[in-house]
Amino acid sequence: MSGRLVHVGSAVVDYVYRIDALPASGTEKTATSYARVAGGGFNMMVAASRTGMKVAFGGQLGTGADGDFLRDAFEAEGIETLTPPSPLMDSGNCVAMISGDAERTFVSWPGAESVLTLDMMAPVQVVPGDWVFSSGYTLSYPGSRDALTDWIEALPADAPVVFDPTPVIADIPRTILGRVLARTTWLSCNTNEAAEIAGAGDAQTVAIRLLAEHCPKAKGVVIRAGAHGCLVRLADGGTRAIPGFEVSAVDTNGAGDAHIGAFVSALSRGLSPCEAARYANAAAALSVTRHGGSSAPTDTDIQEFLSH
Ligand code: ADP
Repeated sequence: MSGRLVHVGSAVVDYVYRIDALPASGTEKTATSYARVAGGGFNMMVAASRTGMKVAFGGQLGTGADGDFLRDAFEAEGIETLTPPSPLMDSGNCVAMISGDAERTFVSWPGAESVLTLDMMAPVQVVPGDWVFSSGYTLSYPGSRDALTDWIEALPADAPVVFDPTPVIADIPRTILGRVLARTTWLSCNTNEAAEIAGAGDAQTVAIRLLAEHCPKAKGVVIRAGAHGCLVRLADGGTRAIPGFEVSAVDTNGAGDAHIGAFVSALSRGLSPCEAARYANAAAALSVTRHGGSSAPTDTDIQEFLSH
């Protein structure tokens, strides 16, 4: 029986322009294609939802065209929205320019999720069986990080908290990061973020330091390592490298989201951490064979892939 994911991270609209070459300062280029898609933490929620977990968004959407767009995108993926729209502003967005040489530039505006208060989060009630997920974005904004951190610390002691500091870890004040890590049950991050928190070293040493010095209450840490798969370190002392699957990657955007969404979903269904990490590697491997950030596969796709 799968639990419910209560996602208190970010959701913004991505405006994606593909262009032959990025424009130089002061010049204008016409894009070869344009897409408006849901982004931020949306893809992690989609990954969990498509693998059978109930998903509810407890972050802050805005009042306006981007907030409406996100609510529609949530509905299309069966994701419930727990909070009313912020009366203060519209949801945030990100303008992405991607060149033919895969050069990328991003400009983002966080919008409503950067002004989150405890009052706004009052409707986000966590019940037994729920899993809470938080990401780095909301914790990096001065107008929301204190409320979200207070909310996380006030959770029932037995509510599992999954934390991914991606991708703005440098923007999170160390005191906030320390408080959230101290309440984290499962930390999932990529190799760079792991080293940013616990210092450089081989993955096993970094994972041991993460658990011993930063996440004292965690059951385990997952360090994602691109095509190599991931490393799982458990609080009881076991470490396992879970190899990635060999696939023809066409777009690694969203691989981390597909991985963590599938990992939480599998854990909530009762798979062991190492089984869940293998399942997550399969989900993420499938996602990199597809274009676009919302490329997370369904449970049926993953089972099919694993059966070969
Ligand atoms: P992030 O996107 O957060 O930086 P990674 O790049 O480590 O995280 O990717 C997340 C997961 O996606 C990896 O742990 C792995 O399971 C899978 N993955 C990423 N790139 C590839 C690839 N080229 N081939 C197969 N699997 C991949």
